[in-house]
Amino acid sequence: MLMENKAENKAVFDAESANEVVKELRDSFVTGKTKSYRWRVTQLKAMLKMLDENEPQIVAALRDDLSKPEFESSLYEIQIVNNSCRLALKEMNHWMMPEKAKTSLTTFPSSAEIVSEPLGVVLVISAWNYPFLVSLDPVVGAISAGNAIVLKPSEMAPTSSSLLAKLVADYLDSSCIKVVEGAVPETSALLEQKWDKILYTGNGRVARIVMAAAAKHLTPVVLELGGKSPVIVVSDINLKVATRRIIAGKWGCNNGQACVSPDYIITTKDYATKVDSFKCELERFYGKDPLESKDLSRIVNSSHFDRLSKLIDEEKVSSKIVHGGQRNEKNLQIAPTILLDVPVNSLIMKEEIFGPLLPIITVDKVEQSFDLIHSSGGKPLAAYLFTNNKKLKRKFVETVSAGGLVVNDTAVHLAIHSLPFAGVGESGMGSYHGKFSFDAFSHKKAVLYRGFAGDAFLRYPPYTPRKLTLL
Ligand code: NAD
Repeated sequence: MLMENKAENKAVFDAESANEVVKELRDSFVTGKTKSYRWRVTQLKAMLKMLDENEPQIVAALRDDLSKPEFESSLYEIQIVNNSCRLALKEMNHWMMPEKAKTSLTTFPSSAEIVSEPLGVVLVISAWNYPFLVSLDPVVGAISAGNAIVLKPSEMAPTSSSLLAKLVADYLDSSCIKVVEGAVPETSALLEQKWDKILYTGNGRVARIVMAAAAKHLTPVVLELGGKSPVIVVSDINLKVATRRIIAGKWGCNNGQACVSPDYIITTKDYATKVDSFKCELERFYGKDPLESKDLSRIVNSSHFDRLSKLIDEEKVSSKIVHGGQRNEKNLQIAPTILLDVPVNSLIMKEEIFGPLLPIITVDKVEQSFDLIHSSGGKPLAAYLFTNNKKLKRKFVETVSAGGLVVNDTAVHLAIHSLPFAGVGESGMGSYHGKFSFDAFSHKKAVLYRGFAGDAFLRYPPYTPRKLTLL
């Protein structure tokens, strides 16, 4: 949605346009329209229809923006949102119901409940790597909680962004749900406005800009960020299954451009030799020349391609590229690449890789992994452990602080709706998915009911010494 600037005859979206959008949505919100159960159901059903009738267009947009394989688009971008809509349609009337709360002697007799009310007009700012999932999944939560919504998709996935704008306008209630397309100027104009909540998905640098803008209006935020998600591999495992599950979470998720993708492996020196298992499975999945494979996404743009190329070139000096390394600059392709014996102070260990490179770090004892995780990049969005050792699993859960943990698999936890999806520390704050999405966009209103009986005189002045003894 862009505003026409008649003087210069070009479309601009500035703070004034942003203000108009928010005003229109606020006017709709105060009518109470979005609060009704019926409106919420209608919008969620319309979203399902939208996904169902436009799957080929969505797959084509994702192919255009990222060469994303159809299987990944269907499973991770469409199916997960579809499941979120269905869950909300099934559970929303329970979620909306006031929740009974205990009272105490202090207010006897009384009853209490927690009432979920919509926050108002909310802003969802999303990222390019899963442009439909990270745009629409929060919108499902905001609709089910009864809010009016502005969605700002990422300009870095432009075909997906314009398809989202078209589909949302065609299928959803445009008096209450709008898409604003654009980059930094448009997002900045939106951030100047007063929102009732902002859910931002992206990197930590921009998250700080979002949070600072939100602070001016005391707007609460949910920040869904990333980080260096480690995988600890212990030698007592089913190597073949573990290898496949690491590959699925890394290269099978947008070629490593996913927030929960394994960022690096930590294993013991003796076990690092098992890297051949990766070579074998990668060749089985992506063929002898992975740049020819239709099952790998490309790198999103040339600046990310250059960033990742620099990491490969730097690491060539200090570590061994034991697999992959092939690149095609014209098509923005990088093959699955494994680097062995990467020094912990190398460039590749300083930032989230967000691409198809997988360094392996070796340690003498597996227990050293926990310290290493905490010393390299704070609290990650996810951490993974492959082992059959019960004690080690327990220690992992007790010791490692991350948004989420998975034992003996990678990335799949985000498909479990009963688990909150959230970062901690540098990887974000606030959670969503399933009922957590409903809660993220609701205010939990405390309501206490009293009658006129049992009016204890104790609380009223004069505060005599005797009253003090009765406390
Ligand atoms: P991006 O470049 O698409 O940026 C995200 C959003 O921020 C976009 O809508 C963009 O327009 C906006 N933006 C960019 N610069 C801005 C500025 N200066 N002011 C205001 N808005 C601005 O995405 P990205 O940040 O490259 O995304 C990758 C990061 O996101 C990775 O760190 C990844 O781990 C993380 N991520 C997290 C999740 C999650 O759910 N936790 C999901 C996907 C990606």
